[in-house]
Amino acid sequence: MPPMPDTLQTNRPDLPPEIGRRRTFAIISHPDAGKTTLTEKFLLYGGAIQMAGQVRAKGEARRTRSDFMAMEKDRGISVSASAMSFDFTRGDDAYRFNLVDTPGHSDFSEDTYRTLTAVDAAIMVIDGAKGVESQTQKLFEVCRLRDLPILTFCNKMDRESRDTFEIIDEIQENLAIDVTPASWPIGRGRDFVGCYDLLHDRLELMDRADRNKVAETVAIAGLDDPRLAEHVPAELLDTLREELEMARELLPAFDRDAFLEGSLTPIWFGSAINSFGVQELMAGIAEYGPPPQPQRAEPRQVAPEEGKVAGFVFKVQANMDPKHRDRVAFVRLASGHFERGMKLTHVRSKKQMAISNPVLFLAADRELAEEGWAGDIIGIPNHGQLRIGDALTEGEALKFTGIPSFAPELLQSVRAGDPMKAKHLDKALDQFAEEGAAKVFKPAIGSGHIVGVVGALQFEVLASRIELEYGLPVRFEPSQFTSARWVHGPDAAVDKMIEKNKQHIAHDNDGDPVFLTRLQWDIDRIERDYPDVRLSATKEMM
Ligand code: GDP
Repeated sequence: MPPMPDTLQTNRPDLPPEIGRRRTFAIISHPDAGKTTLTEKFLLYGGAIQMAGQVRAKGEARRTRSDFMAMEKDRGISVSASAMSFDFTRGDDAYRFNLVDTPGHSDFSEDTYRTLTAVDAAIMVIDGAKGVESQTQKLFEVCRLRDLPILTFCNKMDRESRDTFEIIDEIQENLAIDVTPASWPIGRGRDFVGCYDLLHDRLELMDRADRNKVAETVAIAGLDDPRLAEHVPAELLDTLREELEMARELLPAFDRDAFLEGSLTPIWFGSAINSFGVQELMAGIAEYGPPPQPQRAEPRQVAPEEGKVAGFVFKVQANMDPKHRDRVAFVRLASGHFERGMKLTHVRSKKQMAISNPVLFLAADRELAEEGWAGDIIGIPNHGQLRIGDALTEGEALKFTGIPSFAPELLQSVRAGDPMKAKHLDKALDQFAEEGAAKVFKPAIGSGHIVGVVGALQFEVLASRIELEYGLPVRFEPSQFTSARWVHGPDAAVDKMIEKNKQHIAHDNDGDPVFLTRLQWDIDRIERDYPDVRLSATKEMM
C-alpha cells in the first residue's frame, strides 16, 4: 500500500479539519475522453456505488443520474450538470470530495463556465491518442481565468497512444502551462503494463483481467532497484530508465505552490475503464488539495473558516424529477457551518428563507442534507425565488462576484404551436431564463420573445423540454437579429439611445436593456454616436 500522509495535507494547515478535508472540483474534457468512466470509478472508490456500471450501463440502459430527459438518453450527452458528494479515505484521513459534474458538449459551455465558479480545482482528462482537443482547450481557458489548479489525467493508455513526451509537450505548448509527470507510463497500447509513480517511487501494475480490481503496487527504491526487473519486461525497462532520466532533466519537478497558482499541472497516466491510475489521481487531489478557497465578493472576500454561513447559487435546475415539479438551486457554501432548518437571508430580496429540506447529492440518490461546510454543494428546492448569482447569508449584504453571463451567439424567435397557450410559453421561457438555460429577450416593439443560446443544439433541447414539461409544442424560427449586447451607461445616456433605437431594443428577464442587431456596423455606430453608452457581450450575474 502507498505511504500514508501523517497529517491531513492542505495549503491551509490552520483550517478547521472539517473544512480542510474537503475537496470541491470539476472534471473538464473533450467529449469521449472518458469523463463519465472516470466519474464512475471515483464513485466506486468513494463507496458511493457498489459496482462499476451503476452510474451508466452501456447500450440501451446508457444513462447517468443527471440524464433525466429522454433526449439526453437518445443523444448520449449530458445536458444538466449536477453535484455528487462522496468520501475518499487514505489511512486515517477521510476526505470529502464534492464533484461538480460539467456537461461536456460544447453547446452547453455557458453552463459549464458557471459551474467552474463553484469549484476550487479541476481535473483535465485527455485521451492519450488525441491529446489536447478543442473543448479541452476552451474549458482550460476558463480555468485559467480563475487560476484554478489543474490535475491532468491522460486516459486510455491501454490503447495505442502518443509518445509520452509528445503529449506533455502538446499540453505545455497549447495550454501554456508547465507539466510535471506524477506518473510515467510503461509500454503502450497492448504492451502497457502500468506506471512508475514518480512522487512516491513505486510501481503501479495494471491487472487487465479484472476491471474493478485495484492495481497492484510495488514499492521500490529508485530506478536501480533490482525488483524493477521482476515486474517490468526487459525490453520496456531500458526505455523506462531512459525516459525517466530525460523527464527528470527536461521537465519541472512537482512544486505545490506552482500547482496551486495554476501554473503547473501534474499529469497521471492511466486507463479509467480498467480502473488504472484512478486511485493515484484521487490521492493526488486529497494530498495536494486545494481545500475550500476564499470566495470573491463585495464588499469583501469570504473566507471558508468564517463562522457565519454564506453561499451563492451557481446553477438552477428545474424539473429534475418529472414527478415533482420542483426547481433546485445549487448553492456553493463559501463559509460557516450550515445546518438544516437554518434561516438565511436571501440578499437580493432581503427576505428570510428557512432552508428546511436542503439536499445533498450523494451519488446514489438525493439525501436530505443535515449539515454542510464551506466547499459543500447543497441543493435547495424552491419555487423560483433563487436565481443564479444570488447570495444567501446570515444577514450580511454580500454580493459574490465573478459569475459571467455571456451574450448568446444564436438568436431565434419562438412561437407556441397553439396561440391560446402563449401564457404557458411565457412561463416556460421565464423558467429557462432563470435556470440560465437560455437568454430570453422581450422586444420593446411588438410581441413574442427572442431566445438566445450559445449552441444550436440548445434550441432543440428547449423545444423538447417545453413540450415535455409544459405539454406545449413550440416552433423556433430564424430571427431578424444575430447578435445581442447588454447596454450599460448613465441612465440619461442609455434612455436617449434606447428612445432613438427602439427597433433594436429588448429587455432580458431581469429587465435590463439589450441591443439586438445583425450587423457589427450597428454596434460600432452606437459606440460612435453615444460615447457614454457601452455595449458588452457579457453581464455579470452576481
Ligand atoms: P465522456 O464522453 O468523456 O464522458 O467519455 P466516456 O467515459 O463515455 O468514454 C468514452 C468512450 O471511451 C467509452 O466507450 C468508454 O468505454 C471508452 N473509455 C473510457 N475510458 C477508457 C480507457 O481507459 N480505455 C479505453 N480503451 N476506452 C475507454
